[in-house]
Amino acid sequence: MNLVKAFQQRLGWKIFISYVIVIAVLIIVLISAAIFVAPSAFSRHVAAMEQVEVAPPEDGGGSVDLEADLLANFREAINESLALAALAALIAAVSVSAFVSRRIVAPIREMMLASRHVAEGHYKERVELPGGMEGTQPDELGQLALSFNQMADRLQHTEEMRRRLIGDVAHELRTPLTTIQGSMEGLIDGILPAEDHVFQNIHREATRLQNLVRDLQALSKAESGTLVFNPEPVAPLDLVRRACARLERQYEEKGVGLLNEVPQHLPQVMVDEDRVGQVLLNLLGNALQYTPNGGQVRISAKQHAGFVEFSVTDDGIGIAREHLPHLFTRFFRVDKSRSRVGGGSGVGLTIARQLVEASGGRIWVHSAGPGKGSTFSFTLPVAM
Ligand code: ADP
Repeated sequence: MNLVKAFQQRLGWKIFISYVIVIAVLIIVLISAAIFVAPSAFSRHVAAMEQVEVAPPEDGGGSVDLEADLLANFREAINESLALAALAALIAAVSVSAFVSRRIVAPIREMMLASRHVAEGHYKERVELPGGMEGTQPDELGQLALSFNQMADRLQHTEEMRRRLIGDVAHELRTPLTTIQGSMEGLIDGILPAEDHVFQNIHREATRLQNLVRDLQALSKAESGTLVFNPEPVAPLDLVRRACARLERQYEEKGVGLLNEVPQHLPQVMVDEDRVGQVLLNLLGNALQYTPNGGQVRISAKQHAGFVEFSVTDDGIGIAREHLPHLFTRFFRVDKSRSRVGGGSGVGLTIARQLVEASGGRIWVHSAGPGKGSTFSFTLPVAM
């Protein structure tokens, strides 16, 4: 059973066996020629010779002639049977080689054409698994076809992401630019008064543009893996305390409670403090933005295997179940106008996910539904 499997999965074995088959056919044909064709050809030649030599020769040279004739006929019989054997062997060799090369060359040619198509930008191109390999363990050619299809999948995905990103960025830039342009035209035409609130409006939109560009830069760095991380052992409580201190005033201003419930005894985590600080600021900033006045935000942490799990829980507007899987996708917002008013660019959580994953952890969200608050959790590795 294992031998059959090994044979199915190894192209080298298949080629080797095909050669063995050709050689075996040659041997069988030669043996059959020796057993069946040679004696009959020989008797045919001897019979023909007897017909010619019915009258016995008068002189004594008869036996010498007979011997020479016999030898010549024997040679002819052998040549005839060898020629037949060679023809049969040639046909067998050509058909086995044609079969084998068709099995090898055809898929390679198909892959060559497909790769040319992909290089020309047709990312939907895929190759079929070489014949008879569906459902079985593929050999090297089958694996090459699978790898080719995987590569094409990734290229297609990257290309789609690139297109979507360009569309999204253009869309994100359009809104503030239209506002700035409209306000400026109003000022030039004298329709809008040259007053403080008009300039502030223009300034706000320009700041939004700047934030968007800054976030996009950060995202591109995080996604390309060019961000430098300097991991050091840090106490979870210190991380959270510092982040809370930076947002304390804003929480007070909005009238939202901020509760740090991180226990002191937790082990240190091995992270770049600045990067994780950015994640905490993003989550605490979002919690503040989506929690109305009078609400409360809690930060807790617990140890879980080799990780410390942080959770930021708010009792704010909550998130509908259908939106949860898209929250970490760039430019995704549940309520676009609400997020924009708060200055959000829609990439904060995407950056947070990149930073957490680059730190060796993972991030996820849970919400019981609209109006029922949300909990964003992430893990960080414990320092050894
Ligand atoms: P934004 O800049 O729009 O806040 P994020 O990537 O940080 O971008 O968040 C994406 C979206 O996730 C937000 O627009 C909002 O709809 C939703 N969201 C994030 N945090 C919360 C939260 N704590 N409560 C409810 N919705 C949230």
